Amino acid sequence: MSIETDTALAGLSREVAIDILVHGAQTRSSVGRRMGISPATVTRLVRPLLDSDVLVETEAYRTAERGRNAFALDVVPGRYRFIGVKLTADSVYAVVTDLRASILDRVTVELSSLEVAEVVTTVRSVVDELSARGARTVDAVGVTVGGLVTDGEVVADSPFMHWRDVPLRSILAAELNVPVYLDNDVVGLTKVQHWFGEGTGHESFALITIGAGIGYGLVINHQQIPTGVAPISHYPVNPGGRLCSYGHRGCMTAMVSSGSIASAVSEVIGHPVGFSEALELARSGDPRAVSVIDESARALGRAAAAVSTMTGVRRIILSGEGVDIASIAAEALQDGVSEFDIREVDHHDLVVRPMAFDEWARGAAVVAIQSSFPA
Ligand SMILES: [Zn+2]
Repeated sequence: MSIETDTALAGLSREVAIDILVHGAQTRSSVGRRMGISPATVTRLVRPLLDSDVLVETEAYRTAERGRNAFALDVVPGRYRFIGVKLTADSVYAVVTDLRASILDRVTVELSSLEVAEVVTTVRSVVDELSARGARTVDAVGVTVGGLVTDGEVVADSPFMHWRDVPLRSILAAELNVPVYLDNDVVGLTKVQHWFGEGTGHESFALITIGAGIGYGLVINHQQIPTGVAPISHYPVNPGGRLCSYGHRGCMTAMVSSGSIASAVSEVIGHPVGFSEALELARSGDPRAVSVIDESARALGRAAAAVSTMTGVRRIILSGEGVDIASIAAEALQDGVSEFDIREVDHHDLVVRPMAFDEWARGAAVVAIQSSFPA
């Protein structure tokens, strides 16, 4: 066998293992059908995966075709443990998961300072505590943070943590005795939606998160596309809108970020309110707050329509801690989505999914899972 064929087979073996991890137990013939390869090739592909215990054969069951008994192939999710850690400016959110990112344990610790040394110490104590509570050793730890992360190594710029050029992965790896993986938090959230969440079963989808910042993740034909860190944060969505701190009129940050919504509502009602109070006012029907939230939701709808237009992706998942504006002002959101439609077709599959910090921490776990599976 040539080296090239070897590499190609290893790549296909990996695809088979991931397909079974993501979509559940399958027979050899169903793997073959899904991937368009012959049963003989499937048998060759799965042999090394069975030998190395990545896959196991489950109990035999009768298949529909030819009435024969067949063994399904599956992973053993409970054999593995991952810890996912999501850093925010307030707290460290950590979860323990199995190989399919099911949460088995969790802990949240408030941060008293954003000094790198302090945050690292907190992450270490969280990992130590969760490891001590678990019955199995931890295979890998994934850490995510808002901001620009380069090469999975360095937090190059995190406005949330006030960090620049922090080589966080190597610092943590020196502290923890397990492999450590690092990435941007929206990348992690996109990864978990892709394999084990709202994007599973869709070959393409986009994720837009709104909150203190704006996040954007994209998967096309099952491949996660690098979206950088701020490609959508300053995308123009309202030519007559407010200004962001960079002086852009009506960009996403100016129209949709929680800080900008809070200050716009504060301005129209004449006294300062926070984001959640601004939402409460809109919920209770205060017309001044309603008008601000409507405008923000319309802007979000325009951004979703733009993503769909530019990428051809139908399924757009809206999330983030500010996503409540999408349900408070659902009509305005839809107006924004369909504003430039030229015919009455429902071509968008827009879903609003609030996600707690545990889900972001699961995303961090999936950063570790995707980097280490199959071993
Ligand atoms: Zn801007």
